Amino acid sequence: MELIYTVEWMQQVTRQGRAEGSLIGLVPTMGALHEGHLSLIRAAQKQCRPVVVSLFVNPKQFGPHEDLEKYPRQVDADRTLLERQQVSYLFAPTAAEMYPDGFRTYVNVEGLGERLEGRSRAGHFRGVSTVVLKLFEIVRPHFAYFGRKDAQQARVIRQMVRDLNLDTEVVVCPIVREVDGLAISSRNAYLKGEERRAATVLYRALDAVRQEISQGERDAVRLVARVEKIIAAEPLASTDYAEIVDADTFEPVLRLRRSCLVLLAVFVGSTRLIDNLLVEEDESEEGSLRISL
Ligand code: AMP
Repeated sequence: MELIYTVEWMQQVTRQGRAEGSLIGLVPTMGALHEGHLSLIRAAQKQCRPVVVSLFVNPKQFGPHEDLEKYPRQVDADRTLLERQQVSYLFAPTAAEMYPDGFRTYVNVEGLGERLEGRSRAGHFRGVSTVVLKLFEIVRPHFAYFGRKDAQQARVIRQMVRDLNLDTEVVVCPIVREVDGLAISSRNAYLKGEERRAATVLYRALDAVRQEISQGERDAVRLVARVEKIIAAEPLASTDYAEIVDADTFEPVLRLRRSCLVLLAVFVGSTRLIDNLLVEEDESEEGSLRISL
């Protein structure tokens, strides 16, 4: 694996790859790599060669009171993991390399990025879309891999790709979970003692919704109430938001129809966790729904 720190060298490598007809895959990450990231890397390796993994804790997507300083950084362990996974390139620029003095251009995906995560984390998606556009321009990947764990992020990026005619196809991969259902996240490292057990409340709430939907419930208000009740029953947890939205518009729905997402953001102690459940029309069976947790 080659470790690349500069934009110029990264551009040179992938420019040459494109010229030679390689299919380039990109997996953007903030490091502290785990099984969730590895699942994206494996998906990329099935389709592309070379695969570039970027590791950049993007300061522009953190709010002033968020966890930028304490966000886990373990570059050496990440590097070993990626080497073992036979990744071709690790692109790990510094903040000064990505945002040199005088930087002043941002991407704003209107509407989609303003609700839910965007409302709880003002400016978050502006930072995400800006850095992802830069990564796409630097790496020029044919395919870029994102997790459904961050469903709104994946939707915002898809919109940016469509609106700006970017030559990259966005691939969204399933959520990888711990054995007890907790969605794997670098931020799970913040959970202390009892909080780790309490954090399964997101999965428990979504699993209850899954069961109700499979028993025929279609009323979004009743389903959200069920979620809120389960979270309220967990003393260490408090709901930031719980909503059922159209998977395309991210606007709330009253009844389940077409593709919907049940989206959850929950504080467990001071750690903010997100998770979701995807409901889609099952094309093989008229009127039935496919549910992915
Ligand atoms: P992060 O390093 O947290 O910015 O995540 C980098 C990418 O990995 C994003 O596209 C995430 O959606 C994805 N990801 C993070 N956790 C998981 C998970 N548990 N399952 C699937 N994808 C994930």
